Amino acid sequence: MRHTLSILLLLLLSASASAQLKPRPDAFPSKPEAVETKALNMAASVEEMAGWDRYPTYDTYLAMMHQWAEEYPTLCHVDTIGISVQGRLILSMYIESQTDADLYRPEFFYSSTIHGDEVTGYVMMLRLIDTLLTSYGTSPELTSLMDRTRISINPLANPDGTYRRGDHTVQGAQRENANGVDLNRTYPNPFSVTAKNVPQENQAMMDYFAAHSFRLSANLHGGAEVMNYPWDSFTSASNPHPASDWWQAVCKRFVDTARVYSNSHFRDVTTSGYIAGGDWYVIDGGRQDYVNYYHNCLEMTMEISTRKTLSSDRLPEYWQFLAPSFINYIDEIHNLPDNIGISTLETERIAVFPNPATDRVTVTGLPEGSLIELYDASGRLILITHHSSFIISNLPSGLYLLRTAKGTAKILIQ
Ligand SMILES: [Zn+2]
Repeated sequence: MRHTLSILLLLLLSASASAQLKPRPDAFPSKPEAVETKALNMAASVEEMAGWDRYPTYDTYLAMMHQWAEEYPTLCHVDTIGISVQGRLILSMYIESQTDADLYRPEFFYSSTIHGDEVTGYVMMLRLIDTLLTSYGTSPELTSLMDRTRISINPLANPDGTYRRGDHTVQGAQRENANGVDLNRTYPNPFSVTAKNVPQENQAMMDYFAAHSFRLSANLHGGAEVMNYPWDSFTSASNPHPASDWWQAVCKRFVDTARVYSNSHFRDVTTSGYIAGGDWYVIDGGRQDYVNYYHNCLEMTMEISTRKTLSSDRLPEYWQFLAPSFINYIDEIHNLPDNIGISTLETERIAVFPNPATDRVTVTGLPEGSLIELYDASGRLILITHHSSFIISNLPSGLYLLRTAKGTAKILIQ
């Protein structure tokens, strides 16, 4: 119902949605923002983060992550996604309640600050982690969300860019990694013929996606306020994302919720507050399209603050208007469109034999240890494995869909 209403509203509003585009800040080479009066206050201890109006030093960031893991050992753990060029940690807080631990729950992923100077999302994601962990068992809504969903939150994807001038400050943060590489232009692009030299931060993130089964994710940026949904590699006229209608409804809910709290936001690119990425500016090598294409995961790009390096005293204001939308977006994982990623995103063929099968199935064409998922005819995820040969004799007969990062296949189990 909510979905239908949103689409109707969207149709009514779509005429104004693409009017008066501003250039995408991502299009410009990295340079420091114009000098302005702003505070970049730093928290040199976890205690100094209490008001959420400072940026953490790198050491404070690590201390916060480890303190949460120690305080909530049954609710979360810290994943090390990888290590940056200069040896800093790329971390994610993996939140997984113990309720019905064996039951399948979809995996959600938030990631921020792939561009090191776009730091608003960094603090927003830390505060989101704190809110979720401290609300478990006290807020019925958030407890339910955590009991139905596995949630991984990576606050800082490019630590070397953020701490370019040292671990003690975000002043002078830069967009690129320590080698001067833009991490959001160097993901493999299924639609491009240009081979990419994948930086180690991105390789680590690609491995993290391969090791998980994320179905919905978002990558947080700054420099504009707009919800940017796939594709970035094309205009929507030339190749719309198969879930465009769903994306627009999700984006509208995000923006409308934020505007309840502050009506002036998400207005600097489109009046609607959202856009198909390629209609704003086509890019090559972004993470969003890579994740959508190769990992059967619906990922969008959230541009959440007009300022890239937001004055730290404005961080609480941004949290206030963004927090409800951030939480609702996680819940969208329970309302995904049907059949996305099954035929439209297929790239390479995999082979499955025997087919029909009675007791064991073997999959070829995949790297050793790749994730394999088996869905039943109703779309329910039945089995997850990293073994290319696995037993299916305990499954009811019927038609199943086998899904991997390299493609899908239908199997008849007898
Ligand atoms: Zn960016």
